[in-house]
Order: sequence, then C-alpha cells, then structure tokens
Amino acid sequence: MLQYTSTPVQEFHHPTIEAAGVRVIIKREDLNHPFISGNKWWKLKYNLAEAKRLNKKILLTFGGAYSNHIYATSAAAHECNFESIGIIRGEEVEPINPTLRFAREQGMKLHFVSREEYRKKNDIVFIQGLREKFGDFYLIPEGGTNEFALKGCAEFGESLLSLSFDHLYLPVGTGGTIAGIIAGLGNACEIVGVSVLKGDFLKKEVDQLLNIYSQGKKNTSSIYGNWSILTSYHHGGYAKVTPELMGFIREMKQQHNLPLDPVYTGKLMWAVMEDVKKGSFRRGSTILVVHTGGLQGATTYQNLYEEIST
Ligand SMILES: *Cc1c(COP(=O)(O)O)cnc(C)c1O
Repeated sequence: MLQYTSTPVQEFHHPTIEAAGVRVIIKREDLNHPFISGNKWWKLKYNLAEAKRLNKKILLTFGGAYSNHIYATSAAAHECNFESIGIIRGEEVEPINPTLRFAREQGMKLHFVSREEYRKKNDIVFIQGLREKFGDFYLIPEGGTNEFALKGCAEFGESLLSLSFDHLYLPVGTGGTIAGIIAGLGNACEIVGVSVLKGDFLKKEVDQLLNIYSQGKKNTSSIYGNWSILTSYHHGGYAKVTPELMGFIREMKQQHNLPLDPVYTGKLMWAVMEDVKKGSFRRGSTILVVHTGGLQGATTYQNLYEEIST
C-alpha cells in the first residue's frame, strides 16, 4: 500500500573505527520514503492494512508537537486515502512549527489537548469521548507501537538477515522497533538498543512487547536471548541535547556525509563511537547501525538550538 524505496548500506570510515579493527556499516533506512521515513514506515505498514481491512476511513493518533510519528502518520494517511486526526500534547502555539504545518498540509486535523488530558491517551473513557467527537476511527497509539508495528518491524529485521554482521545498534523510544527487530532476527546476532530516554524501564517494556508478540506463535521468548538496552547515552533525557552532541552531529554531516537528528540517531551514533572507543568489540567484527530516520525535525532543532546558544 505504501510506496517503498529500497535503501543502501553505507560503509562508515573513521580513524577510531579503523584503529579498533572493526567495521561499521549503516543501513540507511531513513531513505525508504521521503515523508514516512525509517522505522515509522515499518510501524505503519500493517496498521494501515488493518485499518483498510476493518473498513475504517479515519486514522487517529497521538504525539508531541515535534513528533516524527505524527509527521509520518499524516503522510501515510494522505497517501492511502484515509482522513487523519492528530491529538497533540500541549496548547497550540502560533505560528505552528514545521512538523505540524506539514501534518496539516497532508490533511491531518490537529486537536490540541493539555498535558494533563494527554496523559489519558490510553484511558478507555477518554478514547470513547474521542469517538463521540470524531467518529469511528482506527486508533494508532502514541509512537505507533502495537502488535501491527511489531509485525512490520519483524519483517524489517528479517530482511537484514541478508547482510553479514555481528552486532546491531538502533535507538529506542517506546521499544516497539527493537522488539520487532528482536522477533525478526531471533538470535542471529547481538542486538543493542540505545535508550534516548532517561531511566531503565525500557527493558521491561520490550519484554512485555515480546510476550504480546509471541502469543500464539511457536517462537517462545527463550529464543529472544541476545539483546540489551544501553541507558547511559540519553544526554539528559528525551529531546535533551548537549553542545558536544550537537557538535558531533555537525561533524558527522560535514566530514562523513551522515545526516543525523538530535533526538534519536545522533545519540545512537554517539553510543556506537563510545562503545568502539571502549573496546567493546572484538577485532574483525562488524557492527550494523540502523538509521531509523527522523530527519524531518532536525533542521528546526538545529536552528532553535543555535538561536538559544548564541
Ligand atoms: C520514533 C523513532 C524511534 C523510536 O522507535 P520506538 O519504536 O518508539 O522505540 C527511533 N528513531 C527514530 C528516528 C524515530 O522517529
């Protein structure tokens, strides 16, 4: 249903990596679609199919004002002829930012709610109220994480089996993407998630998602062995940055032709480089880094950041 462009694997050269005797390759999944990029494409694929199967005309989802998920869902709805509604956390600020402007241009109806109300996003009574207001929609949870997202990400994980690598690194927000990839790859390699949030609750979250996913399937959670989540590379928490991180992102772009965003992939690549420096990898091993996309907000973020810091 959704357009898909197959994506390249970029060989990453860096003195630190060469000195450690390892190989780093980057799956540029950010290039799979101009607007529904990276993991969001895979998370939406089977949700859209399910919405079609149920004959729904409207998609409704939740997100913050800079959300990659809102951006991608609005474009997916447009491409597949659904109406869409975005429940946005916080009051509307004029002028609206480029992420929300784009969503509106795709036809998404934006409905702003207070942070307090937004917290009820999984509450049945609150959702019922939204149904009375907006009609019979197909609900996609915040960040798009549900069993259909896992199915899509598992398919993506399986597709990576044609590459040869020992470790896979990716960023983790809600945990949906890593859970799907773990399910798809089994224990073909070590899978390492880099948490972009402060705290260590994601391990449990991913365990729960894997349990939901394996229900009724012959795979049991015992085959999901070789994965972990790193919790020390969040740079202060979700969407928080440091001057060092912003400098690193600029250097990656200018010297390595690698565009990264500050919320997810910048922290991911930072973690990879730190782990290489620490000697975490055996000489001769290959690390596959999954570029999960999210570049839509990067320019805005860089501009905002420069305004604040100058
Ligand atoms: C949403 C997003 C993630 C996080 O994915 P989860 O499935 O929520 O863990 C990672 N990278 C990018 C670029 C994203 O937009």
